[in-house]
Amino acid sequence: MIISLGIECTAHTFSIGIVDERGKIYSNTRVIFKTEKGGVHPREAAELHSKEAINVLKKALNNAGFVKIKVGDKLCFVDVLYELKKYLENKFTVFERFHEEPWNRYRYLILNDGVEVWVEDQKIKSTDEEIEKKLNKIFNRIKRDLNNFERKINLISYSAGPGLYPTLVQGAFLAKELSNTLNIKIIGVNHLIAHIEIVKLYNNFKDPVILLVSGANTMVLAYEGGRYRVFGETLDIGVGNFLDKIGRLLSLGFPAGPKIEKLAEKGKKLIELPYTVKGMDIHLGGIYTYIKNLLDRDRNISLEDLSYSIQEHIFAMLTEIVERAVAHLNKKEVGLTGGVAANRRLQSMLKSMCEERKIKFGTVPLDFANDNGAMISWTGILWFKKSVKGINTIDPYWRPEGIEITDT
Ligand code: ATP
Repeated sequence: MIISLGIECTAHTFSIGIVDERGKIYSNTRVIFKTEKGGVHPREAAELHSKEAINVLKKALNNAGFVKIKVGDKLCFVDVLYELKKYLENKFTVFERFHEEPWNRYRYLILNDGVEVWVEDQKIKSTDEEIEKKLNKIFNRIKRDLNNFERKINLISYSAGPGLYPTLVQGAFLAKELSNTLNIKIIGVNHLIAHIEIVKLYNNFKDPVILLVSGANTMVLAYEGGRYRVFGETLDIGVGNFLDKIGRLLSLGFPAGPKIEKLAEKGKKLIELPYTVKGMDIHLGGIYTYIKNLLDRDRNISLEDLSYSIQEHIFAMLTEIVERAVAHLNKKEVGLTGGVAANRRLQSMLKSMCEERKIKFGTVPLDFANDNGAMISWTGILWFKKSVKGINTIDPYWRPEGIEITDT
């Protein structure tokens, strides 16, 4: 079975996810570069990534129940509970239990005499020292040959672009180190396509129109003619960055999107703002300047009303271009992803549009809408299985249309 460790590092988030080829997510951990004021500084974000990379890696392995096994000079990361269970099943009655949080599993085994065996901090623990010794002995025996292990990490996937050059370098560097040390394959995948694939996995969608709204990106994407194509996008900045820029004007700190959403809930009066849809694309620079001038003229403007008006205008523009793509391509599913997908008002506008057209709408939980390693792992597996050509370098400007994917 293919099990991939995926590294995401296109901007402020450094994340590692472990996923198998059935789409089971073993772990998805991250660290996010945040500031009280101002936006992401690429070099500072990269410094944080390089400092935290090893901690994020350890946490990803721990949460997944994978431990580092060394046999001779060979290293591998193994799903220790699964391997133990497989071995012990012939000798004891073994039950596998899961504590499930959404997509986050804590696993333990119960032997027939009621003894629990946990995996924590890369160390096998049990309530009985004798049993622990026994298990360790067994484990030492079964690790004699790395090929005996069925569930081990055998693919490294990383986000190769688009993104910020300094942070992409950090991720690619760790990916190459791991691939060399573990002597396993490596694949550089496209960050934007990874956002699409995780929505499809979570909602069991076959052929959706996807609205990707993150910090840097705002795109309407769909699969047509052997590749993911961009049917509409922002002509200047991404919606997330737009909200963050507005946040800077209002001293809301970073990220400003969630704060604007909170303020908007209390807004009552709709302030008229420019509405700039151009064909299938949107334009945000003019609206930003309009708001800046508005604030220069009147510092006492209600932040609640302003936030409410921003959301109503921008999200209506997004819903309009998504609806046009749906109608044009005759698709029956709409997926929403990217950091801004967390916004409930945007979700509800898209949902209403889909209900009216009698098509499906789906999004993903925040952990999988934000930049995350699980989506990179999952896309790495899909690409590996379909022999999609990834890259083994980085490309800060990598567009999805150039990547041929024969079937989805
Ligand atoms: P990219 O994926 O393009 O590299 P990124 O790394 O900046 O972008 P994400 O982590 O996907 O992006 O998203 C972060 C953005 O989402 C920020 O701009 C933030 O303000 C915005 N955001 C987060 N929560 C909300 C919310 N509830 N409402 C609106 N925007 C939000």
